[in-house]
Amino acid sequence: PPVSTADHIALAQARSAHNYAPLPVVIASGEGAWVTDVEGRRHLDMLAGYSAMNFGHANPDLLAAAHHQLDRVTLTSRAFYNDQFAPFVTALGDLAGKERVLPMNTGAEAVETAIKVARRWAYEVKGVPDGEATIVVAGGNFHGRTTTIISFSSDPDAYGGFGPYTPGFRSVPYGDAEAVAEAVDGTTAAVLVEPVQGEAGVVVPPPDYLPRLRELCDSERVLLIADEVQSGLGRTGTVRACEHTGVVPDAYLFGKALGGGVLPVSAMVADESVLGVIQPGQHGSTFGGNPMAGAMGRTVVRMLKEGPYLESARTLGEVLRTRLKEFVGDGVAAARSIGLWAGIDIDPSLATGRRMCELLAERGVLVKDTHGSTIRLSPPLVISEEDLNWGLDQLGAVLADLKA
Ligand code: PMP
Repeated sequence: PPVSTADHIALAQARSAHNYAPLPVVIASGEGAWVTDVEGRRHLDMLAGYSAMNFGHANPDLLAAAHHQLDRVTLTSRAFYNDQFAPFVTALGDLAGKERVLPMNTGAEAVETAIKVARRWAYEVKGVPDGEATIVVAGGNFHGRTTTIISFSSDPDAYGGFGPYTPGFRSVPYGDAEAVAEAVDGTTAAVLVEPVQGEAGVVVPPPDYLPRLRELCDSERVLLIADEVQSGLGRTGTVRACEHTGVVPDAYLFGKALGGGVLPVSAMVADESVLGVIQPGQHGSTFGGNPMAGAMGRTVVRMLKEGPYLESARTLGEVLRTRLKEFVGDGVAAARSIGLWAGIDIDPSLATGRRMCELLAERGVLVKDTHGSTIRLSPPLVISEEDLNWGLDQLGAVLADLKA
């Protein structure tokens, strides 16, 4: 087996598909906010698996829950009940203030679930003929990579050359409630929105956006579906990013951190009036709601309720926000943040986002670029203030080097 970083990367590049362009770091282990590569070098993980690792690497509570469940039973399929299932759906439903939970695995599957449920709801409840339901979405969205989901992507890399695409989606600019109002008509089943757009570069919409969508959905009898796959479960300092605006959507989609970074766990969470439209045989997955997923999901819910994670995201988020201000106008064109989550637009004359990530990796800080010159920070919520400051010092040092 390959041992050096270079050997490993050469082999991976020779034998894997080209669907990712990873930074040249080969991670072998992790603890808290730190990972160690195959050559023993430590790196500060300021991406946290796009928020899937909110609780940090090798979190003792999650490891204990995983080990305990591994020794008992790991998979049953949904042909039977398993003893983790009811506690999991109860805990997650209660956490979100909703009656029912439909567990799946990846974020994209939760989104697919929501699309099917919304269409079926429009068919049964609103009487929209089969095949005519529409869903209003936002430009710049990222909801996953299935054929249906990319059908309403505005990202030219995600969309293009993969057709035919799934019809029935209307995309309007993110943050523009007026445009949503214009797109909604009698065929509309749902408005599907990220409360904060993650992949777009941590874009926080105007404060009245979600409240206005809520009003509109109420008056037009349309479901408001919040994709909290990346924004939810602590990242913004709350369980749901929607809480910042007081808006209660008709359905939440959770993923990423719901599996504690141990395995993929996602879910659509809504009341009986919405999820009640799905009957046996209409939707599911061999792995959705499996015992391991249930054990991880219920542990994550307990940790969010009892642990320091939400508070840390808020406190450290203030540190992050304050420090980012130092950089704006000085190598950074703009910085946005909410909780422990930031999008930073590097001055494009200095470096691309990709180059920034490479330079930061050389200094032992792992982050990810998104479009163009934007990089994104989403460190584990367990990062210490000292480590967060050290990571931001490295960002300052890279910017200083580039300007020199
Ligand atoms: N929704 C949002 C908001 C996301 O950020 C992502 C992943 N970046 C997804 C859905 C898709 O999740 P997955 O990669 O687990 O399919």
